[in-house]
Amino acid sequence: MRYLPLHFDMHNRRALVLGGGEVAERKIDLLLAAGAAITCAAPSISAAIAAKLADSEHKLVEAEYTHALLEGVTLVVAATDSPQVNAQVSKDAQALGKPVNVVDAPSLCTVTFPAIIDRSPLLVSLGTGGASPTLGRRLRERLEALFPQGYARLTEYLGSRRPALKDTFADTALRRRATEAFLDSPGATLAMSGKAAEADKYLFKGPEQLLGEVYLVGAGPGDPDLLTLKALHLMQQADTVLYDNLVSPQVLERTRRDARKEFVGKRSGYKSSSQEDINALLVRLARQGQRVLRLKGGDPFIFGRGGEEIEPLLQAGIPFQVVPGITAANGCAAYAGIPLTHRELARSVKFVTGHPKDGEVHLPWQDYTREDETLVFYMGLGGLASISRQLIGHGRSAETPVAVISKGTTPEQQILTGTLETIPGLAARTQIQSPTLIIVGQVVGFAANQAT
Ligand code: SAH
Repeated sequence: MRYLPLHFDMHNRRALVLGGGEVAERKIDLLLAAGAAITCAAPSISAAIAAKLADSEHKLVEAEYTHALLEGVTLVVAATDSPQVNAQVSKDAQALGKPVNVVDAPSLCTVTFPAIIDRSPLLVSLGTGGASPTLGRRLRERLEALFPQGYARLTEYLGSRRPALKDTFADTALRRRATEAFLDSPGATLAMSGKAAEADKYLFKGPEQLLGEVYLVGAGPGDPDLLTLKALHLMQQADTVLYDNLVSPQVLERTRRDARKEFVGKRSGYKSSSQEDINALLVRLARQGQRVLRLKGGDPFIFGRGGEEIEPLLQAGIPFQVVPGITAANGCAAYAGIPLTHRELARSVKFVTGHPKDGEVHLPWQDYTREDETLVFYMGLGGLASISRQLIGHGRSAETPVAVISKGTTPEQQILTGTLETIPGLAARTQIQSPTLIIVGQVVGFAANQAT
């Protein structure tokens, strides 16, 4: 960036304009609009300029430039038709550390005048660093159309209501939320048309009326590129993010930078939140008017307790959205090169919880014996020996291929393959890390990375 944009407060500060013709007059118009006191100096000053600077705070000096003119001046503008004078003014001003603009001579300037869209107090300024004033003007025209005159009133209105808004909403996040809700409401149009009292009805809803919202969002299995566009969009909106241990740091990085992030999962060394705590927290934060992002690994409705979390929201009448995510089975299978179904080898697929109780996985095993069905076990690492034993015991071939996929879709993904007979031993020997997903069935033969 070649220039630092600043909005300069010129009220009751003096600007020196050198030059008495039309170019000088245009700068004088701008400086007058910004409330500056102006000294205009030139051997001959136009009648138009003299008329504009008739007030006593301004000065007209009909003489050549001298160094003494710089005294007491905050900003210097050279608009004479003499390149020598312009260069001298620039040099003198810079020696005194005063900002100087020389019209049409960027190399002599320390400050430049941007193109502006003036909807004071809203001010949009645009500069091309002297590269192309024409492009600047073209863009300015477009921006003019984007900001109708009503924006001046809207900005002024919001400025005048700021102190009261601070009283109503002490919390910054809530205040922002209230203002955003107002901008989306008919109140904004009312303020633009100068109907301040009517607009107030939309601005001063107390925190209790400001309805929060909960987004139950699937974060996918780990790779942030597997997030949906909708998930990303809501991740940018949320004021608070509640996440658990399956949400990868790379995914968490995509949430709004200034959102409050709270870990509510289970992790050794941390106090873990119970499901009741989380449910209550969701309701409480939403009631405060917050947009709460509940970010869950994979898909919220597949072994994600999403159903349990929306129940209290339904009861409390809190609006919510559920955004599906790529579940571990889909993510891991794709990244491991295992098709979950196959016209000849697997006519169906089952997602099963393999969570063991006292080392045993309790399931209606007689329903899991079809050779042409793929079984995907979530949470099954601790119960792997039990799963293998039960499946073989209920008639599935001991030779059935099995894959254990650890940290699927992340840079640390590991795949272990074997058979129902060999896999428990292999997994124990390699000390494979959780989270792991177990895929059982003929389709595992396609696995891209066969472990040796
Ligand atoms: N809602 C999640 C599942 C939560 S249950 C989803 O749809 O994916 C937790 C289990 O998911 C883990 O025990 C593991 O079996 C599986 N899992 C989640 N992410 C995984 C990953 N990146 N690699 C392997 N398994 C994963």
